[in-house]
Amino acid sequence: MSASGALRLPSIDGLLRHPACLPLAERYGREALLACLRQLLDELRPGVLNGQLCAVEVSAEVLAGRVGERLAQQQRSHVRRVFNLTGTVLHTNLGRALLPEEAIEAVQMAARYPLNLEFDLASGKRGDRDDLIEGLIRELTGAEAVTVVNNNAAAVLLTLNSLGARKEGIISRGELIEIGGAFRIPDIMARAGVRLHEVGTTNRTHARDYEAAISPRSGLIMRVHASNYSIEGFTARVPTAELAELAHRHGLPLLEDLGSGSLLDLTRWGLPAEPTVRQALLDGADIVTFSGDKLLGGPQAGLIVGRKELIAKIKKNPLKRALRVDKLTLAALEAVLGLYRDPDRLAERLPSLRLLTRPQADIFAQALRLQPLMTELLGERWQVSAVEALGMIGSGSQPVARLPSAALCCRPQVSKRLRGRCLLHLEAALRALPIPVLGRIDDDALWLDLRQLDDEPAWLGQLPQLQVEP
Ligand SMILES: *Cc1c(COP(=O)(O)O)cnc(C)c1O
Repeated sequence: MSASGALRLPSIDGLLRHPACLPLAERYGREALLACLRQLLDELRPGVLNGQLCAVEVSAEVLAGRVGERLAQQQRSHVRRVFNLTGTVLHTNLGRALLPEEAIEAVQMAARYPLNLEFDLASGKRGDRDDLIEGLIRELTGAEAVTVVNNNAAAVLLTLNSLGARKEGIISRGELIEIGGAFRIPDIMARAGVRLHEVGTTNRTHARDYEAAISPRSGLIMRVHASNYSIEGFTARVPTAELAELAHRHGLPLLEDLGSGSLLDLTRWGLPAEPTVRQALLDGADIVTFSGDKLLGGPQAGLIVGRKELIAKIKKNPLKRALRVDKLTLAALEAVLGLYRDPDRLAERLPSLRLLTRPQADIFAQALRLQPLMTELLGERWQVSAVEALGMIGSGSQPVARLPSAALCCRPQVSKRLRGRCLLHLEAALRALPIPVLGRIDDDALWLDLRQLDDEPAWLGQLPQLQVEP
């Protein structure tokens, strides 16, 4: 107990009734306000007892202000919008593809109302959620049947388990890859109950290597798109058509994990060639798996397409129930697939393709326009220039291909010793903005690749809040 005359903390009851706290109770609820007040008073008590705090610091007004800040902080969503100026378009850590308006509307509808998720409106009987997109997928890929799961990792796991459990899966050593987030083909195979039978070498695998591995224990042949690395130089790889012919001669299915995959030939938009799902099926792959949120430009999903009887087998696997997609995903996916029916307008309507195909001249003009403003904001310690830059598609598509882009290159004009610290500070200040701005540090500079800066007003609007070291 403090002696009479010494500083005292206001009582909880008094604070709750104080005019400065009433709006907080109204806004955040009495329970949350009470918990926050208690916590703050507990923290201040030692300082009051040993006389370190003055009367103003523990006045009801000041306490209400501090509690208000804390409550606002607590209420702020943890899922936050950011500006992706990293130069990597389909950035896995930043949510990959952005959905087109058509898909956003479909998601809202599915979220707001009951829908025919597993209900056949024609017959009035129970339906199958895959049927909602099967027609579109068949049209766009030439596949006989389709099933959709949570992501492509799930698609690979489910397919392997359904078609190859307790048997051997034959795969080239050059395709035993790891994709970010600890997705490793040998581990997935093991978890799927498929015994790995690796053939060939890292750089060269021949048809005879596959052939020699085939035995009564074989269950399937698998091919995996190398995705995030490339093998160059003295290499050999069996074309899919030849591998399919070999697999079928021995009564084995050929599974092809395309990773990103693409529904259309991207070279028509000047992008690097990426194998299409249709071509893989035409070449004879029995099952093809690919992601919904990579080059396809849709929601996170894993698509499994191919031969009808194999898809039927996959759908019967109890794991399918555990890996299935929800209604929001299906609604978005159908809307995105619908846009592919009109390839001529796809680059205008699908955000990922629009961003991937944005001309460098356009991005450079934007960099030139924004350069004076950024120069003024950062002050004389920094040199800001509009420069050409190289971006990436991301998500394992074309790891060595670069997208010609443009950036604001921010270079600290300080001694070499201080440069690193300066860059980290600017990076942190950009991250602390209401809509965090993410760039990349490279070659002693901070690069803001503007390919994906299409909401310029929001970006400009918050820049005055940037707190750079003088
Ligand atoms: C990206 C990728 C996966 C995993 O796909 P997710 O949709 O991220 O689960 C699997 N295989 C390959 C070859 C990939 O590139």
